[in-house]
Amino acid sequence: MNQVIKISATTLIVLLWGWSPTMAQKTLDETAETRTIKNIYKNMLLESQSHDWLHYLCKNIGGRLGGSPEYAAAVNYTSFILDSIGADSVWTQSVEVPYWRRGEVEKATLINSQKMGNVTLQVAALGFSGGTEGSGITAPIIEVRSFEELQKLSPSQVQGKIIFFNRPMDRARLNTFHAYGAAVGQRTRGPREAAALGAVGAIIRSMTVKYDDVPHSGVTIFKDQTPIPAVGIGLQSADLLSEILAEEPNTRVNLQLSCRHLGMRTAHTVIGEIRGSEFPDEIILVGGHLDSWDIGEGAHDDGAGCVQAMDVLHTYRRLGIQPKRTIRCVLFANEENGMYGAKEYARLAKQNKENHIAAIESDAGGHTPSGFRMDAMAGVAKTSFERVKDWRSIFASLGVWDIQGGGSAADISQLKDQGTVLFGYRPDSQRYFDYHHAETDTWETVHRRELVLGAGAMTALVYLIDNYGIK
Ligand SMILES: [Zn+2]
Repeated sequence: MNQVIKISATTLIVLLWGWSPTMAQKTLDETAETRTIKNIYKNMLLESQSHDWLHYLCKNIGGRLGGSPEYAAAVNYTSFILDSIGADSVWTQSVEVPYWRRGEVEKATLINSQKMGNVTLQVAALGFSGGTEGSGITAPIIEVRSFEELQKLSPSQVQGKIIFFNRPMDRARLNTFHAYGAAVGQRTRGPREAAALGAVGAIIRSMTVKYDDVPHSGVTIFKDQTPIPAVGIGLQSADLLSEILAEEPNTRVNLQLSCRHLGMRTAHTVIGEIRGSEFPDEIILVGGHLDSWDIGEGAHDDGAGCVQAMDVLHTYRRLGIQPKRTIRCVLFANEENGMYGAKEYARLAKQNKENHIAAIESDAGGHTPSGFRMDAMAGVAKTSFERVKDWRSIFASLGVWDIQGGGSAADISQLKDQGTVLFGYRPDSQRYFDYHHAETDTWETVHRRELVLGAGAMTALVYLIDNYGIK
């Protein structure tokens, strides 16, 4: 008898030891949690320093492509802030990244049009674009609106020409990210497909729905080819070029770019965390990417996401809330030019057997919050999506109304196969592509309240996951 009792007690201890919060779901006290979260919001609206941190990142450091000295300065600054707000530990993770640098010279000129003479076109080199020597390249232009149109051209039509991809983002789409997703292929792979057919340059209609003449950059990917000069062109310049080509098909354009690929450099992902008191091995990640395009200040993309993620930790510290689980802020290196930081982070997480139960990334701008997109591998998705459904009315009371499955964010998606539940933060999308990858992406365009409300939505989600689990 005694023996039986002993065994049972041991079994009980083993059971309790192995008892995970995921096995016992705490009942949601919606009224109490809504009250707590609204108090968190009040504090953030009054005390958040995120907009000031963003000011420093934008004005004292500015654009910061992975591997650049500016990027290194951003690593130092954000590490210092994470330390000064009282993170339990702050460290960096190094990764080798390809380093491309824009040059002083960046010029496109329409040459000797019968109607207009020489006309300057507003352009910005795309990331990994080839540079030009001396007086640059001068070549006739072939305009296409799709890859199908490009493929229909004969090699002799493409050889020695500059291909002008002029497909607009669809302004009829309600969500601008959908319009972006449908058109961005002409930027990411247009130049290499043109190069493969013998083109000497590529001009890409900018990815924006705002009708102005601001050129937008962004990465273009060459595989084994020598990169050809490739630029984004402002919409008004694109339309002018298209009109002139319709009347004068032999018009030529001169491109001069002094950008260069400078080999591999070391960059760092910045990490700071508050250790959980009960389940320190269960990590809730909040993050953004610290690198940005070089022609603007990287305010919406993605300085906003970085300072929001840091603000989650700061809010826990300001309010003296001790999380049960570990809350880890991760500012990923080099998202823009290939997600090198996120890939290395996920590799090390797997190698070190870290348990990221959830990851929340803000990389869609600093505008007014609308919701989250969720993603998880099969077997995890159903339970976690059900859990989040219970929180919908709390979020609705905060104006965060749009929570659904389907997509997350680029960096955290690397953790999906480790069973992490992924949340891509979604603000209103209407103005994001006015600034995205352009010189207009400046601190002035990020409204303090909108930025802080976004950090509030992320903090609320972290708070609920910490208290109720997610899987
Ligand atoms: Zn981004």
